[in-house]
Amino acid sequence: MNIILLGPPGAGKGTQAQRLVEKHGMRQLSTGDMLRAAVKAGTPVGLQAKAVMERGELVSDEIVSALIGEELDSLAPGQGAIFDGYPRTAAQAESLDVILASRNTQLDHVVELEVDEEALVERITGRFTCANCGKGYHDTFEQPRQLGVCDKCGGTQFKRRPDDNEETVRTRMVEYRAKTAPILPIYDARGIVGRVNGMADIDHVTAAIERILAD
Ligand code: ADP
Ligand code: AMP
Repeated sequence: MNIILLGPPGAGKGTQAQRLVEKHGMRQLSTGDMLRAAVKAGTPVGLQAKAVMERGELVSDEIVSALIGEELDSLAPGQGAIFDGYPRTAAQAESLDVILASRNTQLDHVVELEVDEEALVERITGRFTCANCGKGYHDTFEQPRQLGVCDKCGGTQFKRRPDDNEETVRTRMVEYRAKTAPILPIYDARGIVGRVNGMADIDHVTAAIERILAD
């Protein structure tokens, strides 16, 4: 099964993708994670993407679609993909159709996480992750069970993203409204969009997504 998690920055895509990976053995394909890895490694893609990401603008369609194609090729046979943060433009949505068709597979569900924009700044400025395993947390909404120790791997180092500041979040929201939200009608026309209240508790959101995937 291949699904897209769609929603503005901070909607909970990464949080829910991590849960689907653990429960169903699917693969999370986050273009944001791929780009951050490229920036860290100093690759040509990373050098091009760094300043764009710091501003909260979108990296070029060609770059992100190429990254997705490469990652899909490394999936185990029959392994499902969770697209997290991709596609973000109509051009990327078209590329994804081509990429999937060329691998004899298709999209099964698009899950839209519906959230109040006012809540997103707080979600994003409070976000942090385990530096070792990448498990996501929040200062208020999802603290590790033991303060300072990762629930998943026991790691004690955590990190915050440089673009998780209020100014950049606002630009990212503008980009979402202008370029990403308009791709929903493409999937609505195919009858594959399931909508979830992303303002509910993390566990409730997970349960609602599971119901959509079971359909
Ligand atoms: P996205 O991947 O859509 O940008 P994340 O999954 O990283 O968003 O979530 C942003 C922050 O909000 C994280 O710190 C996460 O712990 C927290 N969060 C995610 N879902 C919820 C929720 N339903 N309620 C409260 N906080 C949440
Ligand atoms: P994310 O981790 O999804 O919040 O993405 C972080 C940043 O990476 C975004 O603000 C963009 O600059 C860039 N990015 C991630 N995915 C894409 C994409 N599909 N298209 C364009 N830019 C992207």
